[in-house]
Formats: sequence, C-alpha cells, structure tokens
Amino acid sequence: MKSHKETPEFALINQYFKQLTTPRQDVVLGVGDDAALLQVSEERLLVVSVDTMVSGVHFFEDVAADALGHKALAVNLSDMAAMGAEPSWATLALTLPEVDEQWIVGFCRGFAGLANRYNVSLVGGDTTRGPLSVTVQIHGMVPKHQVMRRDGAQVGDDIYVTGSLGDAAMGLKFHESSKALTAGQQTLVDRLERPQPRVEAGVALRHLAHSAIDLSDGLLADLGHILTQSGVGASLQLERLPLSAELRAAMGDDMDWSRVVSAGDDYELCLTLPVACREAVAAVARQLSLPISRVGCVEAELGLRCFDKQGKSWHPPQLGFDHFSAG
Ligand code: ADP
Ligand code: MG
Repeated sequence: MKSHKETPEFALINQYFKQLTTPRQDVVLGVGDDAALLQVSEERLLVVSVDTMVSGVHFFEDVAADALGHKALAVNLSDMAAMGAEPSWATLALTLPEVDEQWIVGFCRGFAGLANRYNVSLVGGDTTRGPLSVTVQIHGMVPKHQVMRRDGAQVGDDIYVTGSLGDAAMGLKFHESSKALTAGQQTLVDRLERPQPRVEAGVALRHLAHSAIDLSDGLLADLGHILTQSGVGASLQLERLPLSAELRAAMGDDMDWSRVVSAGDDYELCLTLPVACREAVAAVARQLSLPISRVGCVEAELGLRCFDKQGKSWHPPQLGFDHFSAG
C-alpha cells in the first residue's frame, strides 16, 4: 500500500477550515490531531475536541437512548485518551425531533455513567428542535511535556494497539440481523453501542509514547494519519493484530484481514513507543487488565506494509471510513 491518500473529508478541512486558524501564541496545536492543544498555564495544556453524531449516519434511529448517551461521551473521551489527557468538562448540544422525557432520562443515564466514572462535569450546551443529532464537546488537561500527538512517531518505534480490533464492525452486522443473538454476538453489538474509551491507558503511557491516535476509522486509515504527520512509514504483522474470541467465533474459517484493518468504531488506541519501553507497556497492560498488543514497527520507508503469517506481503482492498467519499 502507498502512503495514506488525502480523502475528501480531509481535503475539505484543509482547504476551507484550516485557514480560519488565526495564529495565536497560545494555540500549540490546531486542526489536525484528535484534539486541539491550548496553552493556558506554564505546565499544562488545555485539550479540546468535539464530535457530532447524526441519526441514520452514526447510529440507528431506534438505538437505545442510554447507549446513545454513553457513546456520545465515549467517542469524545476517546479523543482525550489519544492525547493522554485527563478529561474534565463537557458541553452538550442536543437536537431533538420531539420532547420524550423517558428517552431523555435514558440518554442522561448513559451519559452520566461515563461522566461519573471519569469525573467529567457537564457545564453547558444547547437544546434545539430538529432531526436527532448529538454533539459533545470535551475539555481535558495534560502536562505539557507528556502530550501524545500524531506527529511524534520515530523510526524504530514499536506500534501497539489496545484491546481488540474489528468487534464493532462485526457487531454492526449482527445488529442488522433479524435472528436471536448468541451471548458472543451480543458482546460484539455492545462493543459497537458502548465503546470503552481507553483514558487510563492514555494517561499511563503518555510519558513514554512518541505518538498516539484513537481508532475511529480503522487501523490502516488512522495509523496512516500518524505516519503521514510524522513523515515515516511502517510495517504491520497481521497475525499479531488482537482479535477477541467473539470475533474469531463470528468469523469462523472465513478470516478476513481486510475487514479487521479497515473496521471503524473500535475506539481503541494505536500508539508508538520506543523498543526500550516493552517491559513498561507490559506492566501497564497488567495493571489495567487491558491487552496492549505490539503489532508492527515504524520504518523510514514511507507507506504502510502488511505481512501475513508466512511473511508474505498482503495488500488491503480498501481503507477506512470517509464521510464524503463517493463510494
Ligand atoms: P477525529 O476522528 O479524531 O474526531 P476528525 O477526523 O473528525 O478527528 O478531524 C480531523 C481534524 O480536523 C481534527 O483536528 C478536527 O478538529 C479537525 N476538523 C474537522 N472538521 C473541522 C471543521 N469543520 N473546522 C475545523 N476543524 C475541523
Ligand atoms: Mg480521534
């Protein structure tokens, strides 16, 4: 595979919105990473990110209200995790087709579960009438010299991913099925509807990692952002990619790597760390009871190369998800 191609969504951002970034000394990092970095004190950076979820695009119209409340906050917490930030405040802009109090109670229950767990306070927002859409803006803090960015990967780094890959995409398939689900299949649907942001892992690894991103659009696309922005390439060992038992069971004999590496909505972290950190990464994985798998390494040769178990080069048919791509 060649180096990551610019997709229409990013072309739009680069052409029109980047120019609105008036230079200010306190903007350490603007458009282009998982979150912006703003200098508000000597030692710490304010970390800001926003994500919108639209009915029929990001979630099914009949999704459970509490699952939506959870996911709206989870995807934002995931961007904090990717920067190594501790989340602190959120605002919520909610557009509702009608006032359904029972629905709102459910939404708040889902939101509060995560907000309480991460000590995030909802400090404002906006409530309007229209087609259902949820926007959460999140703020967090990170020590200035420990922030993880997309542009810090170095040749020789190991590449890691947390948790397991591809579960949410498989969950989407089962969500659409009309048959009764097994426990394993339901686990995959839960991975789609209730992603667990890896905030603890981001904080635990931030003083060691050279770069990080969260996996929202698939490993190839998202790792591609790290590589492009760091000016490096990489190779991936497919058999090292972490797959859950539930995903293996669902795939059966029909192991399809292209689905795993381009599967969106996992909200795991992809990080690069120097080889000297292997022991430390293993210790964090044990401490958090979270698999953190070494899946490849950063190389000087640009582009991303994938290898199968036999060491044979493997070429993926498609990249991750883009909102404005024609296909
Ligand atoms: P993520 O998947 O981590 O949420 P995105 O892929 O949505 O990030 O966005 C990539 C970068 O472009 C981010 O830094 C984001 O803040 C920025 N961005 C996206 N849309 C806009 C916009 N309309 N105006 C300014 N910046 C934008
Ligand atoms: Mg992100």
